[in-house]
Amino acid sequence: MLKCTACGREYSMRKPYQRCECGEPLELELFESVPGIGRRVWERFSGFFPFDLKPELSLGEGDTPLTKAKKLSREIGVKVYLKNETTNPTWSFKDRGTYLGIHRALQLGFKKIGTVSTGNMAASVAAYGAFAGLETYILVSSTIAEEKLKALEVYGAKIVKVHGDYGGLYYKSLEIGQKKGIYFINSDDPFRVEGYKSISFEIIEEITPDYVLVPTSSGGLFRGIVKGFLELRESGLIEKLPTFVAVQAEGCSPICRAFREGKEKIERFKNPHTIAHAIENPYPPSGNAVLRRLKELSGLCVTVRDEEILEAQRALGREGLFVQPASATGVAAIRKLRERDAIEKGAKVVGILTGAGLKTLSYIKAPKVEECLLESFEECFGE
Ligand SMILES: *Cc1c(COP(=O)(O)O)cnc(C)c1O
Ligand SMILES: [Zn+2]
Repeated sequence: MLKCTACGREYSMRKPYQRCECGEPLELELFESVPGIGRRVWERFSGFFPFDLKPELSLGEGDTPLTKAKKLSREIGVKVYLKNETTNPTWSFKDRGTYLGIHRALQLGFKKIGTVSTGNMAASVAAYGAFAGLETYILVSSTIAEEKLKALEVYGAKIVKVHGDYGGLYYKSLEIGQKKGIYFINSDDPFRVEGYKSISFEIIEEITPDYVLVPTSSGGLFRGIVKGFLELRESGLIEKLPTFVAVQAEGCSPICRAFREGKEKIERFKNPHTIAHAIENPYPPSGNAVLRRLKELSGLCVTVRDEEILEAQRALGREGLFVQPASATGVAAIRKLRERDAIEKGAKVVGILTGAGLKTLSYIKAPKVEECLLESFEECFGE
């Protein structure tokens, strides 16, 4: 049964419902189960997912490393753990949700899938669609950079450039999908959210965090991680929930703004501008749902500036981790929260490193390079 996150109205699983008539996102009810053994998270936590997950649809998503950041921990005074989602098949956590979304599309008998995205989700859906042998439609905005289109080309998906209001495309795609038999696995599709729960399961296998920081755009990832922890509590596997922190770029922070102003609903963020393009959704479809969760669970919403993001990106590089700007926002936020004393010394903090740095090379400044003559080679290495 699918249930509205706002009004509670219920919808049958037998039809491709994705949003409630009231406009808010749908969600599956909480699963309660017992973890088992298995090499993959999908096997160990199989009782927490809505269907039997097929290995033949998997490109190897999930089971990513949780790395303790030693320098950052020392410097900030908390235990910083980083969930490295850059090791997924298309280099972002989106693959976890796409894997579940593909199952859903096939369960309903769809032969075509699609998504609305300019970045990581586009690559993910294109890859999984190709692997499953489904016709795949990627709707992109007319202003998309050539570099991003190239990253999609190899998968052989149909790329459709849409001229007009890109903001409304999310809803338009769901409409056209119903008509044309295309299952759009968009950012906060209920089954995509189910896939993201696996991050929480993997974290809890290693540590019990006090805080989890989530770079937030549409809100799908945040909802998935929270749902994962709620199910772990429901199943008696943890007693206490961590404090959930939604992190947004200051230049596009509709959720944090509404949170700060105590509003029930987000408003479209005017003139968004940030280098963290992967989290630059000015009107997130799960924005209100995230707000409700933050309020209900005493979560936090933090914004970080572009300079802080770039500094965090470099700091992560010094830990051996190369992430894209959007993925560095969590670490930038940890620093900020510590400065405000909002996180206590010694707390266990997990930052989700959502996507890989190689996708956004244009933001990296030219490195400092030492010149060296082969004739005087030895002198190049100091004393
Ligand atoms: C999609 C994405 C996010 C945000 O996820 P939402 O589910 O849209 O909130 C964060 N970081 C990266 C790198 C992403 O690709
Ligand atoms: Zn509703």
